[in-house]
Amino acid sequence: MAQEKMAVTRQTFDEVILPVYAPAQFVPVKGKGSRIWDQQGKDYIDFSGGIAVTALGHCHPALVETLKSQGETLWHTSNVFTNEPALRLASKLIAATFAERVFFANSGAEANEAAFKLARYYASKRHSPYKSKIIAFHNAFHGRTLFTVSVGGQPKYSDGFGPKPADIVHVPFNDLDAVKAVIDDHTCAIVVEPIQGEGGVVPATQAFMQGLRELCDRHQALLVLDEVQSGMGRSGKLFAHEHYGVTPDILTTAKALGGGFPVSAMLTSNEIASTMAPGVHGTTYGGNPLACAVAETALDIINTPEVLNGVDVRRERFVSALQALDARYDLFTEIRGKGLLIGAALKPQHAGKARDILQAAAEAGVMILTAGTDVIRLVPSLIITPEEIDEGMARFAQAVESVLAH
Ligand SMILES: *Cc1c(COP(=O)(O)O)cnc(C)c1O
Repeated sequence: MAQEKMAVTRQTFDEVILPVYAPAQFVPVKGKGSRIWDQQGKDYIDFSGGIAVTALGHCHPALVETLKSQGETLWHTSNVFTNEPALRLASKLIAATFAERVFFANSGAEANEAAFKLARYYASKRHSPYKSKIIAFHNAFHGRTLFTVSVGGQPKYSDGFGPKPADIVHVPFNDLDAVKAVIDDHTCAIVVEPIQGEGGVVPATQAFMQGLRELCDRHQALLVLDEVQSGMGRSGKLFAHEHYGVTPDILTTAKALGGGFPVSAMLTSNEIASTMAPGVHGTTYGGNPLACAVAETALDIINTPEVLNGVDVRRERFVSALQALDARYDLFTEIRGKGLLIGAALKPQHAGKARDILQAAAEAGVMILTAGTDVIRLVPSLIITPEEIDEGMARFAQAVESVLAH
C-alpha cells in the first residue's frame, strides 16, 4: 500500500533542490492538452510546452495508452539486450530522414555528446588524430555536460568548471566569412542549430546553411546539426534542415521526441557509423523500451501531414495576435523563428523586461518562455487548439499591459 503523500510546496524547492533553477512561484500538478492546473486549482494556458518538449500537449491519450501498455510489458533491459520498441523507433526515424543508423540516449546533451565524440572518432579513424577542431557558434546551446557546454557558445555556462575540452572554436552565427577564416583540414566538424533556440530564436539563413555544407565537403569535415529543439515537427517539417535542402552528416534530436518522456537520438550514415565498434560509446538507459515505445507513438502522430501542416496555420494565429499587441504597445523589433518556435524580440525601450513579462504572464494564467533577457519565446503544443491560442494570447496581453503600467 502506498503511504500517504507528504505535503510539499514551492517553498520546499528552496529547501531541498540544488539551487540551479529559479522556478515559477506556482507548482503545476495536472495537465490536459495545452492547459495546466496548479496546487491551488488555478489554470494556465501552456505556451511553454515544457521547453519545446510536450509537442502533443499534456497527457495525449495515445501517449498515455502506450505508456500504460508498455509499462505493463517491459521497462528496461539495458543494452546488453536489444528490444522491439527501440528497433521499431530506429527503423521509423531512418525511414523518415537521411539517416541509416541511430544511437539512443536520454537527453539532448547526451545525444550531442555522442555526436561530438563520433565526429572526432570518425576523423581520427578515417583521416588523422590531429583532425579534431570543432567549429561552433556564439550563443549556441548544446547542453550541460562539460563537452556540450564547451561547444556551446555562452561562456557563462562553461566557466568555473576547470579545464575545458580543447580545440573548439567559436565564431558569430550566420557569418559564413567568419567560418571560412577558421576552417581548415584539421577541422572535424561544424556544429550548428538550424534555428538557435536558447540563443534568441534565430534561424540560420539559407546562404549560411548551404555555405556550411559546402565548407564541410571541401575540408572533409562533418556537418552536425543540433535539432534537439528545432526537430520533431517544431518548424513545420519533421526536421528544420529540410527547409534548407541541406543534409547533415550527424543530427541530434531530443526534447519533443518522447513528447515529455526523456529520450534522445543521434542519427547518422552507415559510413560514419561504421567507424564505431562495441564498447566505444554507450549508455545504460539509452533506447530503453519504455522511452522508445512512447517516442514511437509520438513520431507516428507528429510525422503526419495533418500535424505538420497544422503548424504554420497555428503560427499565423500566434503571429497576428503578437502583431496586434505590437500595434498597440510598440513592443517588438521582430517576430521571428519558424513554425511553432516563435521569438518576439523586445524593442530597446523594453530591454530587460522579458523576465518581468514572463512572471506577469504566469499571474495572468499563461505560461511562456524567454530566450535571453530581451526575447519572448513561445513553443506551444503542435496541436494546440485555436481557442487555447486565443485565450492564452488574451491573458498574455493582460500581462504585457500590467508590466507596461509599472
Ligand atoms: C535543450 C537543448 C539541448 C540540451 O538538451 P537537454 O535535454 O537539456 O540535455 C541541446 N541543444 C539544444 C539546441 C537545445 O535546445
